[in-house]
Amino acid sequence: MRPTPAPGAARPPVEAFVRADRVRETAVELVRIDTRNPPGRESAAVPTLSNLLAALGCDTHVFTSRSGRPSVIARYGRTAPGRPTLLINGHVDVVPVVESDWTVPPFEGVVRDGRLIGRGAADMKGGIAAAIEGLRACVDSGVELGADIVFHLVADEETGGDHGTAELVAAGLVRADACIVPEPTELRVAVAERGSWQAEIQVFGTAGHGGDPGRGRSAVADAARITTALHLARFHAHPHPLLGSPTCNVAMVRGGVAANVIAPSCELTIDRRTLPGESARDVHASIVRMIDASCPDVDYRVVPTFFCEASELPLPHPFADFVDACRPGAGPDRAGPNEGFVGLYLGSDARFLRNDLHIPTVVHGPGSIRQAHGADEWVALDDLTAAARTLARAMAGFADFAADGAAADRNQSRQTTGKL
Ligand SMILES: [Zn+2]
Repeated sequence: MRPTPAPGAARPPVEAFVRADRVRETAVELVRIDTRNPPGRESAAVPTLSNLLAALGCDTHVFTSRSGRPSVIARYGRTAPGRPTLLINGHVDVVPVVESDWTVPPFEGVVRDGRLIGRGAADMKGGIAAAIEGLRACVDSGVELGADIVFHLVADEETGGDHGTAELVAAGLVRADACIVPEPTELRVAVAERGSWQAEIQVFGTAGHGGDPGRGRSAVADAARITTALHLARFHAHPHPLLGSPTCNVAMVRGGVAANVIAPSCELTIDRRTLPGESARDVHASIVRMIDASCPDVDYRVVPTFFCEASELPLPHPFADFVDACRPGAGPDRAGPNEGFVGLYLGSDARFLRNDLHIPTVVHGPGSIRQAHGADEWVALDDLTAAARTLARAMAGFADFAADGAAADRNQSRQTTGKL
């Protein structure tokens, strides 16, 4: 039932129009669409997402990447000059499944014991469903938004984002005053995330008879020394307040030719997690420094294979405070203004918006990253509803927030220029 204000009564808050049954149904509907990436089956979700958003009054269209991968773009509002825009960026793709590990079919949208179980329930079809329900609540409430709400429901986040958000950015299609990415954060507000730099380290030895290992130079033994130097190494004197220190995982090792031969070569695969501000060049140099300091006589070559930058919205930031204040339970009973802010140990498309476009971006959504990518992935139905309420409040309050910010900026510039 839709709350109906009595004549003369105050209008119910926008979050009162969020309906738990609807957000659940939307999430179930989305989980039932198999959008696994790889191979990248996002097109299967395009009709459903486009219809859901068009039914709310959005102008929708599909952006197709050069490689043919679709992202749904939807705008609620009228794009008038000076009208602020709040962007919701969510990825439609999900990671593959090992079906034998699941106790329920991963694409059936099973609801049980207060949870939705299925691939993408937490990462991140639950978050997309919550955002759509947030807009639905705004529409149902009849509130005049005063801001445009834009959805970018993108392809390819799980394999790097090049065919989704990155291509939208490169095409100049991302224009917003602020952005919320409803990835799973256990309903907290995430303002920073680590990046990743990966490389192969080729280690060179000298082959010889395995019966006399001291006569040659074992690349396996040298690779073991490099492994000891890098794995769990401490890279940074000043840990990031939300992200801690950089880490290095020596993830794979391949080497040697036969039991009776001194190994002439060995290869390591490493994954060095990075902090905001670290470039690929910085990280490469830190790895070389660490190897040279610990094993100066080893013959090796580092071949970088992958880099995605870390990113953050530096605190304090008014948009982080605004989203934090939109969360259920926000108010004087809360422990403190920054109580909810967290960092993520993995990357999201937020980095493109923060680093490339300097759009204030927070990650906030239902479910936990602990459930993401595993078997029997789930999200609590209560979390879906709570996230939808927060997002409804953020959408409804964004115009006032942006106007306050603009006023504060005007005051600031008056003060700094001495004009009153
Ligand atoms: Zn995700």
